[in-house]
Amino acid sequence: MNDLMGKVVSLCKRRGFIFPSSEIYGGLNSCYDYGPLGVELKHRVKNFWWRSMVQLHDNIEGLDSSILMHPRIWEASGHVENFTDPLVDCKKCKNRFRQDHVDGKACPECGGELTQARKFNLMFKTFMGPLEDSTNTIYLRPETAQGIYVNYQNVLSSSRQKIPFGIAQIGKAFRNEITPGNFTFRTREFEQMEMQYFIRPGQDEEAFEHWKQERIRWYEKLGIRKENLRFHEHGHDELAHYAKRAFDIQYQFPFGWQELEGIHNRTDFDLRRHQEYSGKNLSYFDEEKKDKYIPYIIETSAGCDRTLLCVLCDAYVEEKERTVLKFAPHLAPVQIAILPLVKKDGLPEIAEKILTDLRAHYSVFYDDSGSIGRRYRRQDEVGTPFGVTVDNETKESKTVTVRERDSMKQERVNVSELLSYLASRLAPPM
Ligand code: ATP
Repeated sequence: MNDLMGKVVSLCKRRGFIFPSSEIYGGLNSCYDYGPLGVELKHRVKNFWWRSMVQLHDNIEGLDSSILMHPRIWEASGHVENFTDPLVDCKKCKNRFRQDHVDGKACPECGGELTQARKFNLMFKTFMGPLEDSTNTIYLRPETAQGIYVNYQNVLSSSRQKIPFGIAQIGKAFRNEITPGNFTFRTREFEQMEMQYFIRPGQDEEAFEHWKQERIRWYEKLGIRKENLRFHEHGHDELAHYAKRAFDIQYQFPFGWQELEGIHNRTDFDLRRHQEYSGKNLSYFDEEKKDKYIPYIIETSAGCDRTLLCVLCDAYVEEKERTVLKFAPHLAPVQIAILPLVKKDGLPEIAEKILTDLRAHYSVFYDDSGSIGRRYRRQDEVGTPFGVTVDNETKESKTVTVRERDSMKQERVNVSELLSYLASRLAPPM
């Protein structure tokens, strides 16, 4: 991993964003745990996605379906047959690679000869109930999408939506990746944020274009620099078995341009297959036009962990005397630090009162130890956008100093106006 990545990984560990899983046992390959600040950041990313997709759209409903599902679902979806990566082994050093990740016929590790490719299914298998036999085989879901498709009629009838409408879900997915790596970029357990949009055939291309633009704008609202985002269209060879058209939104990670989110036109493939395998009629009746059809689906499928890694990489800045995480203010795990200049002269009492008032609305952190300069640096390193300092002047003028993280500019603000001052600066973009 390159230098910047190494620095991000080390900051994540040191300040409690991300830890290696099972560390006291030597760790578990490609598994990670989110620490106190990481879990806050993750909640904010998920909440912002939920708000943008569900709460700000009248025609998108939420869902939380189970991880374990009927095994026939994965036959219908094509995962049992097609969710495979071509795997090659090095005859010399025995390392394994995804064939599409190596150039040529020689091992990228030792130059040894590689075997012919064979198919490797990425689904994790386990057993349901006490008997470990093939009739009890069950899969950990490799995507959240199928839970949406099999609930499409339940959601449609209970919410009284009409096409076009969408169903959104955030949840864990599992893939037995051959080559996980690049920190949390590719792991075997991860979280997805998916929205499936059900549409009349023929209106799919317009909807596809609409969601492409909406989704790239979402990353900009997340504070990601525009120049680090781009689309990549899948060529014919790259298209998944279900897709008519596919674009990835890519981010320029320290290790290169890589996928953050896939936007797919899945046609009526999924519902048609579930209709066939379940024997249930999954067509939609259009009451105005008095006709019936199987809806097309436009999918927006984002990785929560990858988004978080992109947020961290994009925010990381080293300046002359400090390291700063320049998160968009609405995303920061700690939004306001409350800092009494000294631990005496009645300043802590005033600071605690401010803390209580702000805590009702924001995530706040109280720090009264060390020099004020050091306290600011500690907050910069975890991306806290505002520091509120209570000093001797506060007692007379009823004002505090508000320091803004990026510019380091300080402004005196009336205590009575502090909440509205901060609220206008911490509000998430619409
Ligand atoms: P890749 O080609 O990188 O394996 P994919 O095209 O199979 O990814 P999708 O099936 O489109 O990925 O999954 C949608 C999103 O889920 C991805 O854009 C990514 O953000 C996330 N994702 C997929 N696999 C992983 C993984 N192993 N670890 C972390 N996130 C993942």
